[in-house]
Amino acid sequence: MTSEGFAPAKINLSLHVTGQRPDGYHLLDSLVAFADIGDRLWIEPADEMSVSVTGPFAVGVPEDRRNLVWRAAELAGGVARITVEKNLPHGAGIGGGSSDAAAVLRHFGVTDGAGRLGADVPVCLRPVAQRMHGIGELLSDVPPLPPLHAVLVNPGLHLPTPTVFARLDTRQNAPMPDEIRSFRDARDCALWLSEQRNDLETPALSVAPEIGEVLKALSASPEALLARMSGSGATCFGLFATATQAQSAAATLASTHPRWWVQPCQIR
Ligand code: C5P
Repeated sequence: MTSEGFAPAKINLSLHVTGQRPDGYHLLDSLVAFADIGDRLWIEPADEMSVSVTGPFAVGVPEDRRNLVWRAAELAGGVARITVEKNLPHGAGIGGGSSDAAAVLRHFGVTDGAGRLGADVPVCLRPVAQRMHGIGELLSDVPPLPPLHAVLVNPGLHLPTPTVFARLDTRQNAPMPDEIRSFRDARDCALWLSEQRNDLETPALSVAPEIGEVLKALSASPEALLARMSGSGATCFGLFATATQAQSAAATLASTHPRWWVQPCQIR
């Protein structure tokens, strides 16, 4: 029987780089949340492993063992025919392949070893707001977020994560406060987030200055509460208090920047 999975976009509401391990990986302190938009997967038992990729962002996505979903099935000891509908831009700071891999691990009931597939896979295994530490393998619960509405924007850029990390000036930055309190509403949450950072924003801007235009356009949207980059970029998000405000900002951005990928969504 075919089972269907959903791989939501992962959003780093904050991302502090707090150190570096001897093996080069960076220590992070990040508030991670998930959108209600994402890739879709269909997984069916088969005699041979196969992966096919469809959808608006299928171009350039491998259909062999290079695809993380293939390796996720292997890790689970499963053999399946997997179809992935790529609705999210990949290599874009919103989890793409990691979230797809996590959906496959969830399908097979795997809870351990997800980090072997990539630093972002463990957090994607349980797609609710969490605080991420270590290089991504240490996760802790946070109070549920208030309803957050957002617009995700990617200017059509693919930024290699290692390049962005390599451009960091300082790797020993302050973590977030010890406690992440619960927030009254979107405005309260955005206010708290405005005191946090994405430390990869400056290095990503030095690789791709167009990210600055995206952040500027999101900040200039009426009623925007916060604009920030997610992960190592290039996707940025704007936060809004209501769905109507997010949808209206998205419509304006899509018409003024027809080449950008612009998606309103809800984050939780
Ligand atoms: O684990 P993943 O393959 O997603 O990481 C891609 C690259 O991003 C790593 O090779 C590393 O250069 C960088 N990275 C890092 N510190 C992390 C996560 C990723 O330096 N915590």
